[in-house]
Amino acid sequence: MTDLLSPKDLFALIELLKPAKRIFICAHRSPDGDAVGSCLGWAAYLRSLGKSVCICLPNPCPDFLKWLPGEADIVYHDRRRLTAQRLLKGADLVCCLDFNTLSRLQEMETAVQRSKAPRLLIDHHLSPDLEQFALAISHPEKSSTSEIVFRLIHQLGGYEALDTAAASALYCGMMTDTGCFTYASNDPEIFEIISLLMRKGIDRDRIYRNVFHNYSPDRLRLQGYLLYEKLQFHPSHRAALFTLTREEMKRFHFIRGDAEGLVNLPLQVKGMRLSISLREDTERDVVRVSLRSVDDFPCNLMAERFFNGGGHLNASGGELPFPLEEAVKIAWRAVEAFSNELGLTPEETTPTAQHETHTAQQETHTA
Ligand code: 5GP
Ligand code: MN
Repeated sequence: MTDLLSPKDLFALIELLKPAKRIFICAHRSPDGDAVGSCLGWAAYLRSLGKSVCICLPNPCPDFLKWLPGEADIVYHDRRRLTAQRLLKGADLVCCLDFNTLSRLQEMETAVQRSKAPRLLIDHHLSPDLEQFALAISHPEKSSTSEIVFRLIHQLGGYEALDTAAASALYCGMMTDTGCFTYASNDPEIFEIISLLMRKGIDRDRIYRNVFHNYSPDRLRLQGYLLYEKLQFHPSHRAALFTLTREEMKRFHFIRGDAEGLVNLPLQVKGMRLSISLREDTERDVVRVSLRSVDDFPCNLMAERFFNGGGHLNASGGELPFPLEEAVKIAWRAVEAFSNELGLTPEETTPTAQHETHTAQQETHTA
């Protein structure tokens, strides 16, 4: 397997780790499979070196990740603020995983900024805020932070000591960030890594089921409802959009994690290049935006220009401080502004183009 780090960076990493006794690991708010998986894998490696390690995340992970071995020991800042701050005070190294700038920590940002400990970044998002970190291991070309963590452990000679629990966490992170290896996964070495993880006794089939076959009946019905009643297509069928209101979330007994994966579904339509989800936040008066695309459509640029956010080329997010109806208008404006990138013809680009806001149900009745 190709070495991830140059000899110089490898040396810098070893020098940073050597004196650290108490290490604080954190990841972005609303942690996903890659955030939690990479933290657990990295923590296991550092513990194998004899370090005292804690993982602290701004808020809890969704239910479908709670099975991960070690999840129960994670300190969630929104629940145990004082513990998190005490751990941070005692830390002599802060590892920042799966995010590119401290603002992604939201409520935990100030506490982390106050710590005098050097910060190590391990991440795969574009445009890292380099001056915030003593050492930045940033590889946007890699599928996931979990893949980067595996490569680091491998290069540092930690593969032998890796156990099934840590291997499962890293596999889970790679699997979730690649849609089960259906995107960002054309590097043949990803499959070498999977093979090495399988040699540690991971149960891929069970990990898949734990993550993806973990729906409540309500979650499955919510999916049907959104696809049938809420999905709007741009006339070109190159872009689609759906909204989800607080009212609907209540109706379907929405819990954290239930929105996961929904925004990918419209991409199953032939020729679809962009999918947008607009969801009312349950706590703040903002609309959470999720963007997914295929090929070279730059979700990150759209998120930066229209939705106060950012992310990866094919998966980005952001938020709008407006009511949902306003957010929908902005989203369609964003689609029009990116008509070139969507490959629309001039006729399809006309701003007056009527979006197919009528639902499948209405279609049946009027047919
Ligand atoms: P999701 O749609 O799953 O919430 O987010 C997809 C990706 O978009 C994340 O992995 C992250 O890279 C990025 N992202 C999501 N929300 C935000 C945000 O508010 N700001 C920025 N800069 N990036 C975001
Ligand atoms: Mn990630």
